[in-house]
Amino acid sequence: MTTDPGTLYVVATPIGNLDDISARARDVLQKAVVVAAEDTRRAGQLLTHLGLKNRLLSLHEHNEKSRVDEVLTMLLSGDDVALISDAGTPLISDPGYRVVERVRAEALPVSPIPGCCAAIAALSVSGLPTDRFRFEGFLPARPVARRNRLKALSDVTETLILYESVHRVAELLADLEAILGAQRPITLARELTKRYETIYRGTVTEVREQLEADPGGGKGEFTLVIAGVSEQQSATTHELERIVTILLQSVSASQAASLAAEITGVKKREAYRLATELKERD
Ligand code: SAM
Repeated sequence: MTTDPGTLYVVATPIGNLDDISARARDVLQKAVVVAAEDTRRAGQLLTHLGLKNRLLSLHEHNEKSRVDEVLTMLLSGDDVALISDAGTPLISDPGYRVVERVRAEALPVSPIPGCCAAIAALSVSGLPTDRFRFEGFLPARPVARRNRLKALSDVTETLILYESVHRVAELLADLEAILGAQRPITLARELTKRYETIYRGTVTEVREQLEADPGGGKGEFTLVIAGVSEQQSATTHELERIVTILLQSVSASQAASLAAEITGVKKREAYRLATELKERD
């Protein structure tokens, strides 16, 4: 007799308020033979809160590859496995991709138990367009790489969603001001679902000032939602880049900026920033 394989359940857990655990998540966690968790200590706290005592298997960024075979063996022997991360939906800027990919490749059942996700929670209250959005997760921690990524994202027309650690949120806002401009509308969601939940809304400069003025602003978890640019603005940026690139073959960055500003109608300062950037990239 062959055993039916178990199911890998990808279970979303709260991002702060423990009451956000769903009835299904509680049910699945109760029935799962093993709970694979990013941090077994934190998972233990959640399970204790739910009155559960499952077997825990640590599965994080550094051991995920080697854990895949163990998870497969459990599923093949008929055991259900629940995958959770420290908070929110596993795999969303969290471990689990390799396991899900492998389990799917083996044609074994994988089922989502949906729930909290900081990105979606922040977007839903951002007041920014939700019809098209782009999740970028964490930008690179190193300043140069982070700024380059922001430059590449500066003319995206979809609403952008970023995660950022408390240590870098001030730097990120400074970079946004310099690269996307002080006037870009943003929403910064801090400590969602928790006691000190705060949602700052305004231009980049306004939000930076609100955060600086807030005595609790230097603490907590942050998700940033950024308005995309209009299609027209995006087209102008591409046209500007095309023109400046051509001009730079014959004239200096300053001359290219003056001419390009005259042709496209953008501010010379903006054209000059682009011209120097393109020159550096050469
Ligand atoms: N998988 C998680 C999810 O579904 O939201 C995200 C995990 S990622 C490692 C953690 C980041 O999510 C934090 O650094 C922060 O940017 C964001 N985040 C998590 N909880 C949050 C909260 N309560 N409020 C705002 N942002 C939060």
